[in-house]
Amino acid sequence: MVQSENGDSVDPAMTVVTKMRERGISSLPRNYELVYQFLNSSNTALIREFAALGRRPSQEQLDAIGRKFLPHHHDIRTVDQSRERISGEMRDVINLVKQEQMALRKYSSLLGDTSSRMSENASTPDRLDGLVKVLSSATGDTMKKGDTILVQIVERADEMAQLKSELEEYKRLASIDPVTRLSNRRAFDARLAAIFDDTSNTMHHALLVADIDHFKTFNDTYGHQVGDRVLGAAAAVMKTALNPDAFVARIGGEEFAVVLHGISLEGAKQTAERIRLAIESTPLKNHNDDIDCGRITMSFGLCMATDASSADDLYRKADIALYAAKDAGRNQLKVHIPLLQRLPFLKR
Ligand code: GH3
Ligand code: MG
Ligand code: MG
Repeated sequence: MVQSENGDSVDPAMTVVTKMRERGISSLPRNYELVYQFLNSSNTALIREFAALGRRPSQEQLDAIGRKFLPHHHDIRTVDQSRERISGEMRDVINLVKQEQMALRKYSSLLGDTSSRMSENASTPDRLDGLVKVLSSATGDTMKKGDTILVQIVERADEMAQLKSELEEYKRLASIDPVTRLSNRRAFDARLAAIFDDTSNTMHHALLVADIDHFKTFNDTYGHQVGDRVLGAAAAVMKTALNPDAFVARIGGEEFAVVLHGISLEGAKQTAERIRLAIESTPLKNHNDDIDCGRITMSFGLCMATDASSADDLYRKADIALYAAKDAGRNQLKVHIPLLQRLPFLKR
């Protein structure tokens, strides 16, 4: 999350939108995703390539970078296309309704016309008969046209319902990290912000951040691909050690976060300890070549939401505690202690 120069927190969505406007980038979701990653990710190759684009990058240039660096780029593009299809369907429905409106207007003016002619020719049965025939045929035509338009509108409604469920699936995918199948950074940012948005909620919440220890050495020893599989295994171990309703996300390369709702400090510490133990006691075996990859450990930082003033502040404090755990020798938990409680005369 972002801090402005004067220390206020800045809405990350607005920062992305402002950047897109500055560079004349059209407001498609896939462009939003790319600019979001440019501003927030630590992928130096992505940042370099994006920064090298001219002041007004073309959609082709943006898509080329998206295809290269964003695992969901294809999905997001499909979402954009679905949106275009929905706008097309909506335009069709509006045209159909307009056609129906025109047909009814024509019919209404025919009725008016016929009614005045009827009063003029009421004494002539032949003319009256002719007018009734005209009226009856116009009524039949208008009803038939109305039925056809209704069928077309129903077909479009079915297609839109189908598109809606496709979009919901893509929306779900857009909040998932493809390597671990956990929630991703974007979903985590939203979950954390929601804690502070809902001021009526008096529940206690805790944020636990976790980082794999010496993962660079692990990658150097067993290779990046094995490292990726270990990220997936670590995610699975974390999930097993947690209640099913706990929110767990991969928020960086080998960094995870758990948001715990309705929990005390003691409960959150126990949860962290459960994960720490489960990780350190899980033997890692590479299924491809049966090589024993030993074990990994994780360090943890914990902060209670009641000890933070905003989502940014909560994350910052949990992260500081995580670095204290690293400094203290790794494979352990450190808790953020509010300043007042650190003063010796207040200690019990
Ligand atoms: P520390 O205990 O201080 O956290 O040491 P570390 O080596 O884990 O931390 P450092 O920040 O120095 O390096 C993080 C490493 O994590 C670098 C990179 O090799 C690895 N890493 C980050 N993202 C991924 C990923 O998506 N896949 C794999 N396989 N490795 C990753
Ligand atoms: Mg690490
Ligand atoms: Mg790290």
